[in-house]
Amino acid sequence: VLALALAACSGGGAGSSSGEEGGTTAEPSDQTIGVAMPTETSERWIADGNAVKSQLEDLGYSVDLQYAADDIPTQSQQIEQMITKGVDLLIVASIDGTALANQLQSAADAGIPVIAYDRLIRDTENVDFYVTFDNYNVGVQQATSLLVGLGLLNEDGTDGDATGPFNVELFAGSLDDNNAHFFFDGAMDTLQPYIDEGTIVVKSGQTDIEQVATLRWLQETAQKRMEDLLTSTYADGSKVDGVLSPYDGISRGIITALQNAGYGPGIDAGLPIVTGQDAEIASVKLINDGVQFSTIFKDTRKLAEQAVVSAQAFLAGEEPEANDTETYENGVKVVPSYLLESDIVYANNIQSLLIDSGYWTEEQVASGQ
Ligand code: BGC
Repeated sequence: VLALALAACSGGGAGSSSGEEGGTTAEPSDQTIGVAMPTETSERWIADGNAVKSQLEDLGYSVDLQYAADDIPTQSQQIEQMITKGVDLLIVASIDGTALANQLQSAADAGIPVIAYDRLIRDTENVDFYVTFDNYNVGVQQATSLLVGLGLLNEDGTDGDATGPFNVELFAGSLDDNNAHFFFDGAMDTLQPYIDEGTIVVKSGQTDIEQVATLRWLQETAQKRMEDLLTSTYADGSKVDGVLSPYDGISRGIITALQNAGYGPGIDAGLPIVTGQDAEIASVKLINDGVQFSTIFKDTRKLAEQAVVSAQAFLAGEEPEANDTETYENGVKVVPSYLLESDIVYANNIQSLLIDSGYWTEEQVASGQ
């Protein structure tokens, strides 16, 4: 009887629920969810934002979706405004994972649950849940595809026929993005035995993440670094055989630098094996055309779904279901997480992974748009 009475009393306007004890039965139509995304320059974040927004709206919630043009102060302000407006929950894909502690303290003070989306938010206890992919394994997959491209491994995991030695250069993502470290660790743990035995040679000697990182994951920055490597390390006429790239935009910068230096145009004409991530349409076309070798497919629709399920749990006063409670230590605490799996895309499985699943159409793969 008490429960019924409480249920009958609750359900005020948006924002009124956050401070109440014991959860509420506020209707979705009374609730607003703030969604902070990093940038629209990479198409995955547009897909993520759209998927989260539409799935929440289908359930009846209002959504305040903001992009921050990869500018840290802009993202901080957007989140502050969402809190001031009284959102009921925040979903945040951070730019700099270490820069949001003040904002998230305000969120906690206002009783607003915070879900870190794809990228871990660090150095604060006020992040309640984390939805992401198995980021270490993404790095393993990137390195594995590089080994397959070089012929050192077969796709089924058995040893390939190639013997090397192969000249390989390494690229990593933005150091302020926690994911960049997980990707690089997974990749290096996979490549290290080959480097140790001399089958893979990092001719530049640049093997520390600080040396190979790409601030803000920028294509131009990666292109410039590849150009510099070609005119320094490879000025003696030696050839690059492979490049570990953590993200498709970076891959396209690397490929442009290589092509401008006379490699290729395609792999069959001597373009090095270049990996990637995100299955961006421009890169999927390059893979289909035999230019980029591989990418990693992370189904953003599924990540959005997981964020929405977790949000619903919090809004019902419950804890979302985690499938990992030990990996993501954020400097203050281990954040309970839900990790999704990713897949390696090669030319031969674009159809089954990307087209059959409706992620891209055949026409888009053909045109690259
Ligand atoms: C994401 C990747 C993405 C990269 C650059 C990372 O945090 O996990 O999917 O390629 O950011 O946007």
